[in-house]
Amino acid sequence: MTVLRPNPQMRDAIARAVDAEATLCWTCGSCDSECPVNLATSRLHPRKIIRMANLGFLDELLRLPMIWYCITCKRCEHICPNLVKPYALIAYIREEVIRRRQISHEMLRRYRDFISRFQRVRWHAVEQCLHGGLESLSEKVWQEWLNTPVLQLPRMIHQKELNIKTRGFILAAKEADISSCFNCSECSCACPLACERSVFDPQWIFRMANYGLCNELLGSQSIWLCIACGRCSEACSQLVKGHNFIRWVKKSAVEKGFVDEGFDFRLSDAEKLIYCRYLEEIDRIMGFSEKP
Ligand code: SF4
Ligand code: SF4
Ligand code: SF4
Repeated sequence: MTVLRPNPQMRDAIARAVDAEATLCWTCGSCDSECPVNLATSRLHPRKIIRMANLGFLDELLRLPMIWYCITCKRCEHICPNLVKPYALIAYIREEVIRRRQISHEMLRRYRDFISRFQRVRWHAVEQCLHGGLESLSEKVWQEWLNTPVLQLPRMIHQKELNIKTRGFILAAKEADISSCFNCSECSCACPLACERSVFDPQWIFRMANYGLCNELLGSQSIWLCIACGRCSEACSQLVKGHNFIRWVKKSAVEKGFVDEGFDFRLSDAEKLIYCRYLEEIDRIMGFSEKP
């Protein structure tokens, strides 16, 4: 077994290249406990990535599979008490891997294509959990969900259905400043999940809220895909606090019986299955699962 020695020169070189404030990390592990991929799979550890940077292990970081598991939500950065930025470091390492041509264009193309279709699987899992649960995920079902666009049947919304707002809805929308939205799409551009409008699009959610389509929102499958990362609110130049509003919509959907009380637990179990499969697929695309 090779024992790795700390490399202070490389640590300083990483610190100069990326403003991640890695040296402020006191290894509390809050980032690990907040990362949605780690919560579902126990296989993505932002703390470890920061620690490796602090030891100057750049070569090892460039070969680390978990760099590619990150869904770019930045929840690790929002939770860190010392304002360390694990995601900034992950983004830098990915860029370095690409710049040094340590992965091929074809791998990168397949990886990006997979990421853009992955939310379809989560959407289908929500649907499944609304009507029972997801006990297993066969290869056939995984491929089918991944490769089939989510088609939502168009429905004409009539004037009389608009502006049906409950008091709670009005208050939640007001607190989140939803009416300030002018549909610029900054939220959708920042959201790590918004790849296909029919699957998930925060701008669409806020637009519906402004029309008062309360019941449409409470009954929507898409709201359950949101991982509460807050990137939409962070990006909004109108200071709309969209993630808070979506959190309220989910809570209200449970309270008003749009989903049953066990739904959250079933969905969390389903997410474990899905994210494990997600990591397997990335390992396959990037060649991490190949035997030496
Ligand atoms: S939350 Fe911050 S201080 Fe804690 S382990 Fe993660 S990076 Fe380090
Ligand atoms: S950006 Fe999100 S997915 Fe990536 S390490 Fe941080 S918390 Fe995990
Ligand atoms: S909080 Fe906002 S950016 Fe994050 S997943 Fe939800 S809608 Fe997207």
